[in-house]
Amino acid sequence: MRLDVDRRACAGHGLCYGNAPDLLDCDDQGDPIVLVDPVPEALLTDARGVVDGCPERALTLEAAP
Ligand code: SF4
Repeated sequence: MRLDVDRRACAGHGLCYGNAPDLLDCDDQGDPIVLVDPVPEALLTDARGVVDGCPERALTLEAAP
């Protein structure tokens, strides 16, 4: 599975990388950067949690191509 950020929808408040530092970090602008592609099996529950927890619905988890 692949975790993607919709940068147009993201508000940059940092909930995702604050709650899941193994999955996401931030750049100098405070925008999230996905650290793992594909998401390892062991982190899938955390990935679903950040997707569900993003207030802007800016994160998606989809099958890796
Ligand atoms: S929680 Fe959502 S809106 Fe907030 S920084 Fe992360 S991706 Fe962006």
